[in-house]
Amino acid sequence: MPVESAGRVLVSYGGHGIVRLDDGSTLNCKYRRKVGRPFCGDRVVVHSADRESGVVEHIEPWRNRFVRADQQGRQNVVATNLDQVMIVIAPCPAPSTDLLERYLVAVQSLGIAPVIVVNKSELLQQEKIAAQAGPAFSHFEDYLELGYPVVRTSCKAEPGVGALIELLHGKRSILVGQSGVGKSSLVNRVLPDMQLQTNALSEATGKGTHTTTTTTLYDLPAGGQLIDSPGVWEFGIWKLEDAELAAGFPEFVQFLGQCRFHNCRHHTEPACAVKTAVEEGLIHAWRYESYVRLLIQNAK
Ligand code: GDP
Ligand code: ZN
Repeated sequence: MPVESAGRVLVSYGGHGIVRLDDGSTLNCKYRRKVGRPFCGDRVVVHSADRESGVVEHIEPWRNRFVRADQQGRQNVVATNLDQVMIVIAPCPAPSTDLLERYLVAVQSLGIAPVIVVNKSELLQQEKIAAQAGPAFSHFEDYLELGYPVVRTSCKAEPGVGALIELLHGKRSILVGQSGVGKSSLVNRVLPDMQLQTNALSEATGKGTHTTTTTTLYDLPAGGQLIDSPGVWEFGIWKLEDAELAAGFPEFVQFLGQCRFHNCRHHTEPACAVKTAVEEGLIHAWRYESYVRLLIQNAK
């Protein structure tokens, strides 16, 4: 008689994955064509005849899906059911203009809360580096005021990673950012037993070793979970629709229905409520300018 149990997918391969059942045990589970392939983070129901392996019989509806763009710009699901996305930037490599805005809008469009992590923050004390770091670094107060959490971290010096650990506590999160900003260094700091967890996953699959290049859900020592997905967003993100772009600037939202034209792009149109709000100082001019640059890039 097979036993039915519920659990969460820790790692998903082509035809099977590792599920952690609600009793704490992990099980290597096969997928069935009829049910489909779950992703890292999905809640599933599995049938198992023994304690060694099982079959995924049902995938619960997801709350949100974190995606990456492939070379054709198509969206591929990386993980599901996230509480927040930690967008990591660093003074070097400095983000390109509007990179942070683009990331913020993309996360917002997925229905997930973004958090800004400023790594290598000790380098900002060096005047030369701070001057070359780019505009994003002079706007932290504005980001906070707009409701985006901002934490400063360093893997090499003060202030360390304590503030990040606090924000990760009790939540399911993923770290994203361009190559070289320190994502793997941060993961190593917040998951000291990552290797042990990786070994346990290899044991559960029973064949070969689990490689850290596969998107994997890890348990944080103090509670909460961190999804590690190497390379995620290093090569940019998908194209956002104009309307998604405007909706991704939370301070625009209250004005969006008030423009003369219902399809206003808030650029050259007359009687635009967003532009009026900028003129009245209700929206930061630098945020609006960033929006317009992203809009123009969209049209290309
Ligand atoms: P990833 O590509 O985002 O995963 O970045 P890595 O974790 O591989 O880090 C890239 C480089 O930045 C490495 O040489 C790290 O040692 C260095 N690095 C990471 N965090 C910090 C930091 O807080 N301060 C400084 N100065 N260097 C760091
Ligand atoms: Zn408008």
